[in-house]
Amino acid sequence: MKGLLICDCDEVLLHMVRHFGVWLHETHDIDFAIEGGDFANSMTRRDGAPPPTREEMWGLLDQFFPHEMGRQTLVPHAREALAALSTMADVVILTNLGDHNREPRIAQLLGHDMPYRVETNQGGKGDPVARLQAEFGNPVTVFVDDLAVHHASVAKHAPGVHRVHMISEPKLAVNVPPAPDAHVRIDDWQVAERWIADRFASGQPA
Ligand SMILES: [Mg+2]
Repeated sequence: MKGLLICDCDEVLLHMVRHFGVWLHETHDIDFAIEGGDFANSMTRRDGAPPPTREEMWGLLDQFFPHEMGRQTLVPHAREALAALSTMADVVILTNLGDHNREPRIAQLLGHDMPYRVETNQGGKGDPVARLQAEFGNPVTVFVDDLAVHHASVAKHAPGVHRVHMISEPKLAVNVPPAPDAHVRIDDWQVAERWIADRFASGQPA
């Protein structure tokens, strides 16, 4: 039986924060310290005005997605790893974006030669992961994401899923500790590919 690989996109398959930061600087005169973990607390206005509120941050993200998605670049070895793993597993990209961004995200990933099913989601990823697992007949499943909150959610709602914590942005990775609810922290796709392939080869749930 084929495995199931459920993979996040931003900061896993495609670089986001570094490009979001450049765009903020160019178009909104905002400095964005991507080394931080929290978006809203990472922004400062270059003219000295108060930093964007949390609500304004969401507005800025709504401008970036989908209009500026073309700025995003491929994480090294992500495409090759997914292509190799797709021979042993079905692949679903589970991305926390508004549903209106699903088609743009599909097109974006196709543009990087990643022709996979895409599901948009809002909130914790545990429920959608459990639903996908059931839909595919409860195969050996591996989940990859950069955010600890999603690993906690998947651990709660789909505990049999192997969980890989990956932060492919080096400037962010050095400042973010391993997610407590993930099984492993791997920031490199060549290493992750081997770890994930071993899980599918073992045929065992977590
Ligand atoms: Mg992400």
